[in-house]
Amino acid sequence: MSHTVEILSVGTELLLGSIANTDARDLSVELAALGLDVHYHSVVGDNPKRLREAVELARGRADILITTGGLGPTCDDLTKQVLVEAFGKKLVFCPACAQQIRDYFARIGREMTQNNLQQAWLPEGCTVLDNAWGTAPGCAFQSGASYVVMLPGPPGECIPMFRERAVPWLAKLREGVIHSRVVRIFGMGESEVESILRTRMNQLVNPTLAPYAKEGEVELRITAKAADLAKAEELIVPVEGEIRRLLGRRVYGTDVPNLEQVVLDGLKYRKLTLGTAESCTGGLIAKRLTDLPGASAAMKGSVVSYTNEVKEQVLGVPRKMLDQHGAVSGEVARAMAYGARRVLDCDIAVAVTGVAGPERDERDNPVGLVYVALATPGEIRVTRLELGSGPTYARERVRNLAASNALDMIRHYLEESGAQ
Ligand code: ATP
Ligand code: MG
Repeated sequence: MSHTVEILSVGTELLLGSIANTDARDLSVELAALGLDVHYHSVVGDNPKRLREAVELARGRADILITTGGLGPTCDDLTKQVLVEAFGKKLVFCPACAQQIRDYFARIGREMTQNNLQQAWLPEGCTVLDNAWGTAPGCAFQSGASYVVMLPGPPGECIPMFRERAVPWLAKLREGVIHSRVVRIFGMGESEVESILRTRMNQLVNPTLAPYAKEGEVELRITAKAADLAKAEELIVPVEGEIRRLLGRRVYGTDVPNLEQVVLDGLKYRKLTLGTAESCTGGLIAKRLTDLPGASAAMKGSVVSYTNEVKEQVLGVPRKMLDQHGAVSGEVARAMAYGARRVLDCDIAVAVTGVAGPERDERDNPVGLVYVALATPGEIRVTRLELGSGPTYARERVRNLAASNALDMIRHYLEESGAQ
């Protein structure tokens, strides 16, 4: 039996636009990974009548109802009260929960006001979802054909509570496991990936294959349902192999977090050091790599050579070359990479120069024209990219895509040199 989910977020501040409903978004990602279909997101203010109406609507159109928010100690926190009334239950006092709330306050060294004990009243017969990340416990119960899970609003509590407490409870609703692997692809649009895989995707029932587009990337999630993890893997592995054969080296990894992690791992594995010379990306490549713990094992440094003076004086790009070809040119990218490899004393150096926008540059080069060069011990490669100019956030987009392309160029080089 397949289950459908509605996420019902409670909180007037969501309706006022004071905060974004990140809980619903993040829970949807988690639920999709479990293979549960989310059919509705709804939002309602801290108002008992409208909350009750929203619950009635939700229970009629989804069999799993997940609420977020309104579990706290203040008088506007009314989710539990309204939910138990809707499902014909009562709230009962949970002494163990009360003790945990007292312990929490003792641990953080704050005095507990009495209204906090309101959080220890929970629906009769429910499974208590302990809150190790805050005070308000969550809860889960079944009523007829409906399954209800209530989670606190603060994202730092809601998401870990879902993963650690609600998922094991939901797992009991079904037999077996749902397991997925994510294949990551760079350098191909979602429609291109879909057109290559469409026939296969339509044939697949278990596992299923779902593409998600991200900036410059595509994620393919292969999800299998099986009696246990090993059997799910058995279903997934051949499909993953098939995807890799069809998409070739555009696939940069499976169950890896991002391109920069793959690059860093590849550099470490090969004991190579990296430096960057960045014009239009302004240090973004270096930032993305140094965001990762352990980056110092491979990342030597970066020259943010934004102006021609820095390109010339720090990296040694000849003045004549800059005058003749302009800063945004393959020649200059090549000279930047060559110079960075020398001044940063690294095994490989990547250089980026381009037009981030929003305007064309002084030589009338279009927004999104970017040159990336990679200097290795044996050669210097140069790529010309046309990243286009989206109507909004063009600058940010061009910079992100330029950095990703530079990382991907390093990744290709590392793969060719036999890393991993
Ligand atoms: P608390 O014990 O903190 O009161 P609660 O379960 O009662 O928890 P709310 O009072 O509804 O939760 O919300 C507390 C805070 O959590 C909000 O001020 C907001 O910052 C955040 N929050 C609530 N709902 C959401 C949501 N759907 N998405 C993102 N953040 C949220
Ligand atoms: Mg609250």
